[in-house]
This record gives sequence, C-alpha cells and structure tokens, in this order.
Amino acid sequence: MNAARENTIDWTRVRADFPLLTREVHGKPLIYLDSANTGQKPASVIDAVDDFYRRHNANVSRAVHTLGTEATDAYEGARRKLATFFNVRADELVLGSGTTFALNLVAYSWALPRLQPGDSIVLTRMEHHANIVPWQLVAERTGAKIKVAEINDNGELDTEALFALLTPEVKLLSLTHVSNVLGTVNPVREICREARRRGIVTVIDGSQAAPHRSVDITSIGCDFYAFTGHKMCGPTGTGALWARREHLAAMPPFIGGGEMIKEVRFEGTVYNEAPHKFEAGTPNIAGFVGLGASVDYLSALGMMNAGAREQELLRHATEELDKVEGLRIFGRAAEKAAVVSFLVEGAHAHDLATLLDLEGVAIRSGHHCAHPLMHHFGVPATCRASFAFYNTHEEVDAFVVALRKVRKLLA
Ligand code: PLP
Repeated sequence: MNAARENTIDWTRVRADFPLLTREVHGKPLIYLDSANTGQKPASVIDAVDDFYRRHNANVSRAVHTLGTEATDAYEGARRKLATFFNVRADELVLGSGTTFALNLVAYSWALPRLQPGDSIVLTRMEHHANIVPWQLVAERTGAKIKVAEINDNGELDTEALFALLTPEVKLLSLTHVSNVLGTVNPVREICREARRRGIVTVIDGSQAAPHRSVDITSIGCDFYAFTGHKMCGPTGTGALWARREHLAAMPPFIGGGEMIKEVRFEGTVYNEAPHKFEAGTPNIAGFVGLGASVDYLSALGMMNAGAREQELLRHATEELDKVEGLRIFGRAAEKAAVVSFLVEGAHAHDLATLLDLEGVAIRSGHHCAHPLMHHFGVPATCRASFAFYNTHEEVDAFVVALRKVRKLLA
C-alpha cells in the first residue's frame, strides 16, 4: 500500500462525512470498531435514499409514467455503477439482498440440479456460516460430500493441502476472499487458476473484501463472486451475485414471481433473460439507489487509499494490543485486512464487549458466524475489533486504554 497517497487525504474531513460517528454512547464519544459486521453510511448515501423516497419513489420495470422511468433508471444505474466498480458486465450481476442470498442462489440454482452422489464440494475452515450451510443443504439433497481445507497457526490457508483436496470428484470450490474473523486475505486468483485447470467451478465470498480493497472480479478468474452492500457503506438488504454469463444462461430460476418472466400461461412460463430471471418481485429499489451512491463515494475516495489507511490502523492496533498482557490475537496472516480477533486471559469475550460498550467502544463478541473456526481454536467466542478508513489512530489508542481499564474490572 502506498502510505504517501494515504497521507494526501484529509481523513478528518472524510470522517465528517459519516453523521453517526459524532454521537455518544453512555455519555462517551462513540468509537465504532464493528465495521466488519456492518459499515457506517456517509451522508451522501443517506441523502440518496431520502431523495429517492421524497422525489422519485415508484416501482421498477412496470410503470411507463415518469416516476416509474426514474426509479427504473436509478435502479439499473446502480447495477451499472457496481459493474464498473468490480470490472464486470452489468448483465452478469444479479441484484439481491446480500451475500447470503447470492450464495444460496448458486447453491440452489447451479449446484442442486448438477451434483450427484460421489461428487464433492470443497470449503475452507475459515468460512462464514453463509458459505457453509447452503452447501450442507445441497449435500443433504444430492448425496454430495463436503471436504474442508485447513489453516495454519497464522490463520492462513494451507494452499498445498487445499490443492491436494481438488481431486476429480470435486465439482465446486467455495471460499472467502477475506476472513471475517482472522482478516486473512486468501490468494483467490492462484486458487481459482488451480481449480479451473481441474475443471472445478469456483465461488468466492467477497463480503469482507469488497469494502476494504480494490476488487477486480474479472482478473480473479472465478465463476461466481458474491458481495453484500451494507459492508460497503451501503444500505442493508442490498448485494449481488456476479456470475459468468454461460452459468446464468444455464441456471434455472431460484425464486418465481413477477419481474422474472417474459410470458406466463397456465400451460407454462417463459422466463426473462438473466439477470432479471433471478430477480423475482419488487427489489430493494431505494437500497440500490443508496448502494449506487456508496459506490460513487468509495470510487471518489479510492479503494487503494481506503485500504492503505486501514492497513495503518491495523498495524497500530496490532502493535498496541500486543503490549496488553494476556491478550491473544487470532490470525496473523502475512496479508491481512483490518480485523483483529482476540481474547484476554481470564475474561469472557461478551463481558469484555459489554464493559467496553459502557466506555463508548463498539466491538463484536461471539462466534462471528464461524463455528468451525471457533472449534478449531477450541474457544466458544472471541472479541473482534474491525476498522474502517473512517476510524482514527486516536480511537485505536482510546480503545486500548478502555480495554486495559475493563480488563482490570474483570480480573
Ligand atoms: N460472508 C462473510 C465472510 C461475512 O462476513 C458475512 C457477514 O457478516 C456474510 C457472508 C453474510 O453477509 P450478509 O448477512 O450480508 O448476507
């Protein structure tokens, strides 16, 4: 990352774009360190949603009146912005409620009709439940098996062991780009290349990558890429699945209803073209207008700049946390996003998070929807501080001071 470029940005002004960050919690200034859970929203995103409801609200693709056209243009405009942001074609982006929807779409529409007893799906130890449970549902129904790629002590994938799992009966490999617990950035390009050489279809969960780095989906070489809007400074209930056109053309619809059809007769229905074939019902129009605004915001800021800022915050936080006696950090990958999972000897994760909240510090505690990873480390829960470009070094310091204080209370 280019520290010089990072320094050219006035981060105090950037932070001022986020109205919520000025509030207090329990009489203390809020220190929001839970962006891996959901990101805060800049005023431009909030205003875009507000403006849509105040001035343009109508349903998409149905009405020919002016508002209907404006709403459709705004919704399809958001699809085009996302396509540019991720360097893909707009007609290969299926808009939906987020990564969970996107991964289930692949599971039900691509995998379920294809997999058979004797086939295998490969996942990794560090997956979020959203990238485990859909495949278990598919495995139960098809008789396919699930194999798991393990991690080393630093929380990095053992890629040689992963490649050894890619035997001829494996039909699909699904893995996260960035771990929501460990911060590990997986070498998805190399992994997809190896899988493709073996004829294995690849699915990447980009939930934690899209908010923190510049993601060029085309250059990754995967078959499917899922992401969620609310972690990218956008509204909740937005996200998308990118898929190669040949997959979208071959996949049956997942959910039926309005918008996804060309003609309906009781004798049979002709479906719309992809991506609309997969977008039944009234979508989250205002949400996507907001997501379009968040893509504008992030593009203007520059994902390289945001990533560089977050790396600085991560380095600072890791250094300071390493000085806290009895604190153990989970995940020390060489390439890591700004997420620090930790435990402090003698203190339960939830107790720490609850007491930190009283100090105004919002961190997450729990299993982070990653039970298999918790089992691997032999712990029920961890604390997780996750940083975004709008955080400050002063907040990192205040967090560590608060942590030392609450730790004493629990001793
Ligand atoms: N995958 C990862 C790695 C995540 O961190 C999350 C959210 O925490 C998800 C999937 C699920 O995203 P959503 O709940 O927005 O569908």
